[in-house]
Amino acid sequence: MNGRRPLIAANWKMYKTLEETRAFFKEFIPKIKDIFDRDIIIAPPFTSLNEAANLVKEVPNCHIAAQNMHFEEQGAFTGEISPLMLKAIGVSFVIIGHSERRHIFGESDDLIGKKVKSAITHGICPILCVGETLEQREQGHTNEVISTQIDGGLSLVSLEEMESVTIAYEPVWAIGTGKTATPELAQEVHSFIRKLIAQKFNSPIAENLRLLYGGSVKPENVAGLMNQPDIDGALVGGASLEVNSFEKIVRFE
Ligand code: PEP
Repeated sequence: MNGRRPLIAANWKMYKTLEETRAFFKEFIPKIKDIFDRDIIIAPPFTSLNEAANLVKEVPNCHIAAQNMHFEEQGAFTGEISPLMLKAIGVSFVIIGHSERRHIFGESDDLIGKKVKSAITHGICPILCVGETLEQREQGHTNEVISTQIDGGLSLVSLEEMESVTIAYEPVWAIGTGKTATPELAQEVHSFIRKLIAQKFNSPIAENLRLLYGGSVKPENVAGLMNQPDIDGALVGGASLEVNSFEKIVRFE
C-alpha cells in the first residue's frame, strides 16, 4: 500500500452549458458526500467554472479544474484566460498539455512547460498530460515520447514545486476511442514515468507523485486500472459527463 491519495478527475471538454452544469452538480454532490478518502476534480468549460467552483464549496475533497490557461497574468491575448482569473474564481487545478491541445491546437512542449510553471507560481496545481500516438507506439517510441514530454513539461519546475504537480498518462490512441490500455500496459508506462521522475528529481518526489491514467476509462474498467501499483487515479472524458457513470468511476469498486 502506498501513501498516495486516489484522485479521480473529470474532463468535460467542450460539453455542458451553464444550466447543464448546474443540473449535474445538483445530482452529483449528494451522491459523493459520503466519500472522504479520495480527491475528485471536475474540469468544466470556462463558462461554467465560476458556478462549479461555488457549487463544490460544501465538498472539501471536490475541486474544480480549468482545461487550459495562458501562462501570462494579463495582456493582449485575445481569447485566452489567465491564471489570475482562474485563481480569483476558486479554480485550484488546471489540465495542461491535453493531447487535444497538443494535436489540434499545436501546443509545444516549450509552451506547456511555461504553462505548468505559471500555474504553480499562481498557486494552481497543474495536471500535466503526456501520451504517445498509435504510430509512435507501433514504432517503439513510447518511452522516448513520454520522456521528451515530461522533460519539456517540467523544464521550469523546481524540486519544491513538484509537490503540486500531477501527471496524467493518456495514450492518444485510447482517448475517446473506446480502446482502453490494458491495466498491465498502463502500469508499465506509469512505472516508467515514476522512474523518470526519480532520476530527474529524487525518489521521495517520485514516490509521492500522483499518476493518473486517462483513455476510455469507464465504470467497467476502472477497478482493474486502480489495482495497479503505480496508477493513483484517472482522468475521465466521455464517461464523466453522466452523473451515474462518473459516480461509479469515483467509487472504483
Ligand atoms: C480525456 O479527455 O482526457 C479522456 C481521457 O477522454 P475519454 O475518457 O473520453 O477517452
